[in-house]
Amino acid sequence: MDVQKRIQQFKQMSEADPENELGHFSLGKAYVEADRFEEAVGAFSRVVELKPQLSKAYQLLGEAYDRSGRRDKAIEIMTQGVTVADGQGDRMPRDAMAGALREWDAPVPEFHSSETVESPSSTAAATATGFACARCSQPTGQLAKAPFKGPLGERIFQNICQNCWREWIEMGTKVINELSLVLSSQAGQDTYDQYMVEFLQLENP
Ligand SMILES: [Zn+2]
Repeated sequence: MDVQKRIQQFKQMSEADPENELGHFSLGKAYVEADRFEEAVGAFSRVVELKPQLSKAYQLLGEAYDRSGRRDKAIEIMTQGVTVADGQGDRMPRDAMAGALREWDAPVPEFHSSETVESPSSTAAATATGFACARCSQPTGQLAKAPFKGPLGERIFQNICQNCWREWIEMGTKVINELSLVLSSQAGQDTYDQYMVEFLQLENP
């Protein structure tokens, strides 16, 4: 689907349910794709307000600030974001934001989670199964099997934990209702899958 159409659709969703962070999150990403960084800043700021524990939102907000020419704000938000991500053991966004701060010669907050939070048993479990959730980084709670057939179902099985999957089911129901998606149509199914991939942070295989 073309980016302008997606912007329209995500706008509709974020207006229909302004407390639902997924609409704002998806809208922000579509704005980035369309090089509309000022508007992306607005959308991601709303996500951070709604879900201050969603570390990935700080990263995207910081990047949008930087690309809209406001590096001071980018540094401010990513400095906050590193601490939030670190506190939750979200290593991928944490390391991405720390890397950006270093590149901008800004101080990087000290990490606490990698050595202290991770217990030896969880490391062993991760090594044994090779599983770590792509969304929350937890090394446990892999689904028992693919939730549905096909390559996407298989990717979810390989990369997503039970908790995140349950969260998506709840969010997916909202998406269906708010966008009045008809899942029996190809367009409806594609839109639903697109939200799912974004929500589960599977866009970079
Ligand atoms: Zn997870």
